[in-house]
Amino acid sequence: MATSMATHSGNLFIIAAPSGAGKSSLIKALLEKHSDRSMQVSVSSTTRAPRPGEENGVHYHFLTVPEFEQRIDRGEFYEWARVFDNYYGTSRKVVEQSLAAGIDVFLDIDWQGAQQVREHHPQTRSVFIVPPSLEILEQRLRQRGQDSDEVIAKRMAKAQAEMSHYHEFDYLLVNDDFDDTLTQLEHIVMAQRCRMPLQQVRYGETLKELLG
Ligand code: 5GP
Repeated sequence: MATSMATHSGNLFIIAAPSGAGKSSLIKALLEKHSDRSMQVSVSSTTRAPRPGEENGVHYHFLTVPEFEQRIDRGEFYEWARVFDNYYGTSRKVVEQSLAAGIDVFLDIDWQGAQQVREHHPQTRSVFIVPPSLEILEQRLRQRGQDSDEVIAKRMAKAQAEMSHYHEFDYLLVNDDFDDTLTQLEHIVMAQRCRMPLQQVRYGETLKELLG
């Protein structure tokens, strides 16, 4: 249950993947399936320009470089990184408030941010999603728009650089079949919710009664 009177803290999950692995669609589908407000995705801040269709406050909080740097100085980010020449960061306040309210939080961040989050919060579970092959990754990147071969080649190189960090994560999902991968992701979340320390708090009264 997700209320400000929560007796237990929410779980923090990092979901990382190269662009084209299907990460955003998987997170969206998982949140739609669990629309009970027990989980949410953190909206990051970035200095990159919005892409067509992206809305401020929905996809990202779009900031200028000086605004972002001020927030770094004020310690407002839970983690932040420079990714492909732009800044990206996660709001400390939103993550901490949501976890305190018992809500599970997903961070859609890169491997650099993942390293920082593990340091602050060792109980974090991190999931890395890869496509089933380079050929399929390229097909998915090409489907996104009218990009030139040169742009696609650059994206493929970036994807491979991101994927070289896969072994730093707790779980690896190969997104071949969307529904299977969604089920796997959901099971990771559900298993984490059932971990002993959390259950002992959540079911403290029941356990007391059961044990007499
Ligand atoms: P894009 O510009 O395509 O939306 O995202 C580029 C990369 O930045 C992706 O790998 C995405 O996961 C990562 N990213 C997005 N938000 C954050 C954030 O708040 N922190 C970090 N470290 N990476 C982020």
